[in-house]
Amino acid sequence: MIRVGITGGIGSGKSTVCRLFAAKGIPVYDSDSEAKRLMAAELRGAIEARFGRDIYREGELDRGRLATIVFADSQALADLNAIVHPAVMRDFAAWAERQTADYVVLESAILYEAGLENAVDRVVAVLAPVELRVERACRRDGADPEAVRRRIAAQMDDDTLCRRADFTLVNILEADLVPAVDELDRRFRHEA
Ligand code: ATP
Repeated sequence: MIRVGITGGIGSGKSTVCRLFAAKGIPVYDSDSEAKRLMAAELRGAIEARFGRDIYREGELDRGRLATIVFADSQALADLNAIVHPAVMRDFAAWAERQTADYVVLESAILYEAGLENAVDRVVAVLAPVELRVERACRRDGADPEAVRRRIAAQMDDDTLCRRADFTLVNILEADLVPAVDELDRRFRHEA
């Protein structure tokens, strides 16, 4: 069983790529939504111990308040990451063990920042020109282009991603993405 990490910045098309793998029957682990699930349940005690019990309201994590706290305090962000990232890594490892496919895919926008490269055997970076990413994110979320550019500037740049990843997928036209994913799928099945 090969574990493949898919990463890339906002609007690059990670989720689109993951949907193409899922359509081939490949199990996909979405780190972002799984982290949210873990924070709502088994990480609650650790998060309350660090951030206070009122960070949960009526049983729900107050994500807005948590975001405000960690945005203003880098130690708080480091502490939150130290709770969440290892838990996601363990949860992914256990999930991957239960799968029977030739390979599995993990999607994470912060694969390297979260140390998840150690949980996968191959990394695919999804890349696209910045202005196209801004346009996609604004169209999808109704976001402000300047806010999207600021988020892009805070993420790992494409040159670094390219250097660190084993494979790159340039996502400009979806028509070109399909054969590129087909080729990676053949490769991963062959290597499994
Ligand atoms: P984020 O990190 O913000 O969640 P992402 O990397 O997962 O982004 P997607 O959600 O896959 O990116 O793509 C962003 C938006 O752009 C989506 O609305 C998607 O449908 C659209 N999109 C992605 N790739 C293409 C493409 N090749 N052609 C047209 N639209 C695309």
